[in-house]
Amino acid sequence: MVLLLSLSVLFTGCKSSSREAFNTKMKEGEVLLQAEKYGEAVEFFEALYKENSDSITLMEKLEYAITLEASRNALKKAEAYLEEENYQEVLKSLEGVHQEDEKGVLLKEALLEDMKKEFLSKGKTLLEKEAFDEALALLKEYERLRGEDSDILVLHETILEEKNKPEEPKKLIVLNAGHQKVQDKNQEPLGPGSSETKNRVTSGTRGVATGIYEYELNLLMAEKLEKRLLEEGFLVKMVRSSHEVSISNKERAEMANAWGADLYISIHANGSENSRKQGILTIYPSKDNPFVSHLSDESRRLSELLHDAMVEKTGANPVGAVPMDHMASLNWSKSPATIIEMGYMSNREEDVLLSEEAYQAKLVEGMVEGIKAYFSFE
Ligand SMILES: [Zn+2]
Repeated sequence: MVLLLSLSVLFTGCKSSSREAFNTKMKEGEVLLQAEKYGEAVEFFEALYKENSDSITLMEKLEYAITLEASRNALKKAEAYLEEENYQEVLKSLEGVHQEDEKGVLLKEALLEDMKKEFLSKGKTLLEKEAFDEALALLKEYERLRGEDSDILVLHETILEEKNKPEEPKKLIVLNAGHQKVQDKNQEPLGPGSSETKNRVTSGTRGVATGIYEYELNLLMAEKLEKRLLEEGFLVKMVRSSHEVSISNKERAEMANAWGADLYISIHANGSENSRKQGILTIYPSKDNPFVSHLSDESRRLSELLHDAMVEKTGANPVGAVPMDHMASLNWSKSPATIIEMGYMSNREEDVLLSEEAYQAKLVEGMVEGIKAYFSFE
């Protein structure tokens, strides 16, 4: 009897010590779960289950670990598919995220949000490129995958609005490269109805350092400006494209009028007796101009914008935007007009600068900026 009792004590003692070991093991497994090492947890619990297949708690833990492992694997797959922009598969994979995986569910929501952001940003890029149909197709694809969404709908509306907006007619800029190879001292009236006359075309100046003729520089710069304006979506017409022409200042303005110019821009370089003079000057008709006073305000605005932008780009001396009323090319114009004096060819330093490509590019960018600013204000 005594022996039996002590045996029984021994047996229960043994049993309780194996329960303790089991509990310790369970805690170890729990730590793996806490650390979200679900793969390891599955292996761990499986091994433990082989020896303790009667424990329901263990079975539940094992099932939980399996569920979570599968859930996180599904998330990882979805992330990889998102990287590949394979959205169909992203969604398919996300179906594997289990409700019990609370953190996984949050991660899934974040991933779906990322996916939506990708669609929105792609859609906006296409909108900027005015690829309206592509943009709409993209949003339709999103709706097919995920159903309606307010952010997507808002962008959809914006795209439709932009798509159906009547296109603004392009602005026509007429560029007049000042002077020509041979001057023409025959006379023409200073403006419509004027008895005062001027030379049809003067000879222009010439670079003191470079020997370049003004008419050469003017055409070179007009052509550079033409190229950039076309890139910016303007229409451009050139009064002359060669040096061997005979077109008077009055006739040049009339060409611009006949073409229906929105702006008439004459390009010149300056010359002065004073060889120290430097800088950029633009010219517009004054309020008191007897021929085109009604164009003074707009021509002044254009001249100021051009002057300021060119000075800013080049760092040249700002001579200013100034009114002058004895310019035939301004007086005969029917559109806002300006004369750009890009710099002094009578100044050695500025003459050399004007012949350099980098400086020419800055001048042209200034002109482009001034012209764009003129129209953006309208
Ligand atoms: Zn000139």
